[in-house]
Amino acid sequence: MNILVTGGAGFIGSHIADACLDAGHRVIIVDNLSTGRIENVNPRAMFHNVDIRAKEMEKIFTGERIEVVVHQAAQMDVRKSVDDPSFDCSVNILGSINLLELSRRAGIRKFVFASTGGAIYGEQDYFPADEAHPLRPVSPYGISKLAVEKYLFFYHHQYGLQYIALRYANVYGPRQNPLGEAGVVAIFSRKLLAGERPVINGDGKQTRDYVFVQDVVRANMLAIQYPATDIFNVGTGCETTVNEIFESLRAAAGPRVEPIYGPAKQGEQFRSVLSHDHIRQAIDWRPEVPIGEGLQRTMEYFRQHQPGGQVSR
Ligand code: NAD
Repeated sequence: MNILVTGGAGFIGSHIADACLDAGHRVIIVDNLSTGRIENVNPRAMFHNVDIRAKEMEKIFTGERIEVVVHQAAQMDVRKSVDDPSFDCSVNILGSINLLELSRRAGIRKFVFASTGGAIYGEQDYFPADEAHPLRPVSPYGISKLAVEKYLFFYHHQYGLQYIALRYANVYGPRQNPLGEAGVVAIFSRKLLAGERPVINGDGKQTRDYVFVQDVVRANMLAIQYPATDIFNVGTGCETTVNEIFESLRAAAGPRVEPIYGPAKQGEQFRSVLSHDHIRQAIDWRPEVPIGEGLQRTMEYFRQHQPGGQVSR
């Protein structure tokens, strides 16, 4: 199949593009390299350095005969979305609508959308959250993901577009940007390997549901094949504190470095964890990489990609 992966130069999108190529598909990557990196682009894919909002997207849909869209491109910095909601809306909502319009005109088979579990549920009423949990996003980023889920429903209802929205938990693994705002595993790994002291916001007892990127890739691959429309959480059901993440990474890194405890981030959720019952029953997905192994693999990647280290794709 001809699969368009938007955001295919980014962390998650580049792994999905690799998996699609390995499965024998033709992969077309669209990415404007705003946070993505050209080194992440698989040389076996067709690459277009284009903004998902651009007029040129029309030519790409027809010229490349797109059959499936895996939409990962996004403005994904929650703080930036608070500072500049218009920009967030432009990329995340208008960019997605542009793709949806082109998708329905092209009569594509499936639209897979990277939604979010943490930001869409807000502070949880119960743990773990299933897909029926109330949706109370408290950031423009979470609102934009929810809006796109609603547009997906509209395109399905109006035009019969088949879609899957995947509400990711906290994704971690190789290629995550260690200099970004989010991604505590990548940030801590880089700091620890450089012998620097990572900052833990608050007391470090806040919990998240950490899912390894290869498990997220597998969910996307199953979603492409799934012959129906639905919304699935992609999480492990396990809560891990920031302190526990720090301890595991410190053990893997070697030298003993103490964290710096900084002030708690304002408005930060205290607990976040997702149920995967629904996706397990529907498409037989379950997380396969335990957190200890995932952290080791991530640390190993950053060790090899330190300045002066050995580099491999
Ligand atoms: P990322 O920043 O590494 O990837 C996003 C990619 O989209 C980048 O390569 C960037 O250059 C590209 N992009 C941004 N704006 C674009 C535009 N206007 N046109 C074309 N390309 C554009 O982030 P990621 O962690 O790989 O996230 C992928 C998706 O998963 C996003 O939609 C994000 O919201 C979602 N998500 C991620 C997590 C997580 O923990 N990483 C959690 C929930 C949801």
